[in-house]
Amino acid sequence: MDEPKALSLENEAGFKALFQYATVGILVVSSGGRIELSNPCVEKLFGYEKAELSGQMIELLVPEAFRDSHVHHRDGYFERPKARPMGYGLNLFARKKDGTQFPVEISLGHYQLDNEPLAVAFVTDITERQRFNDELEAKVKERTLELTQSLEREKELNDMKSRFVAMASHEFRTPLSAILSSLTLVESYMKAEQEDKRKRHINRIRASVKNLTVILDEFLSLDKVEQGKVEIERELFDLYDFAEDLMEEVNGMLKQGQHIRFSYNGFRNIMQDKRILRNILLNLLSNGIKYSGEQQTVHLDIDANVGDRKVVIKVRDEGIGIPHEEQKNLFSKFYRAKNATNIQGTGLGLTIVKQYVELLNGHISFRSEPNQGTTFIIEFPLNDHGYENDPTDRRQ
Ligand code: ADP
Repeated sequence: MDEPKALSLENEAGFKALFQYATVGILVVSSGGRIELSNPCVEKLFGYEKAELSGQMIELLVPEAFRDSHVHHRDGYFERPKARPMGYGLNLFARKKDGTQFPVEISLGHYQLDNEPLAVAFVTDITERQRFNDELEAKVKERTLELTQSLEREKELNDMKSRFVAMASHEFRTPLSAILSSLTLVESYMKAEQEDKRKRHINRIRASVKNLTVILDEFLSLDKVEQGKVEIERELFDLYDFAEDLMEEVNGMLKQGQHIRFSYNGFRNIMQDKRILRNILLNLLSNGIKYSGEQQTVHLDIDANVGDRKVVIKVRDEGIGIPHEEQKNLFSKFYRAKNATNIQGTGLGLTIVKQYVELLNGHISFRSEPNQGTTFIIEFPLNDHGYENDPTDRRQ
């Protein structure tokens, strides 16, 4: 086939125009590595004047770190010249006059002039393409992460749902059957002199309903705190009075012969979220009571010590304790130790307590010996104003 006229060898003007206006850099290099020819695009890409390039070694345009190996590759190319991309699969960089580097794509070709072999390099600046690729890659990464997170959340929710169903079907059964049997009995105690029996069963129903409410409340609290929907609202209050009210509140839970021993040390007025603190302590105290036997004591020790600028509260019991090998799981959702399975519970209380303590910028820890007892220790910073209003009042 005939060559198109525009590219026929006689049409020098056509070749000049191709060379002149090409938007890729074109370099002609001798086998010794000297730049024989460069087009305007090369000057633009590398920031050199035409005269500065002509006759220079091609390595001038190669970053310092790659110059030695480039000489080696160049020699190799002239030994077996063929049209091919340079450094296939590698990230190539070129060096501008001001020393900055930029990513390039280079294809190589060759020809002979007066028996002198020459190589042609076509240089494309791929900075923009690479930036676009990087942006795309970052976006894909970001989206993948979002997707993974929402999948994980979905999985966690599903897991929570099935664990809730398992827990609820177990924990709801006892109070529900208590309600049902008490109701049947209430119905049968019609006589006036059976008033006492009726009352006892009505109280049993009330306790069972309360039990169910506690389970639901715990579940909802956990969801709320996990969703970050619990807001801290600090107020100034008397911690000593607050603790006494709490003890009164848990009084009804005490088993035969159980009692709570209370000790208080330090300043009384503190600035804290009362509702959250109440929840934490109610949970720890009711666990202390629940997991202790009759006649045993639960201790509540509060130290609001200005010296350390923190409040330390210990809830200690002499109850069943927690098996050593299970202690690491205690704050996990729905976790219940083996020695607690015949005592009612959801396994959610401590998870909530831990998250609440952290919301108060505090810390929770515990130590426990099976059959000897458990001590939970919570610490949180004494916020400003905590003692200023009441600097003299210490209570042992
Ligand atoms: P629940 O008491 O409803 O089961 P919690 O989250 O409050 O849930 O407690 C998780 C588990 O930790 C309990 O099931 C029990 O095994 C153990 N536990 C918590 N407090 C005590 C305690 N004071 N004494 C012994 N075991 C405890």
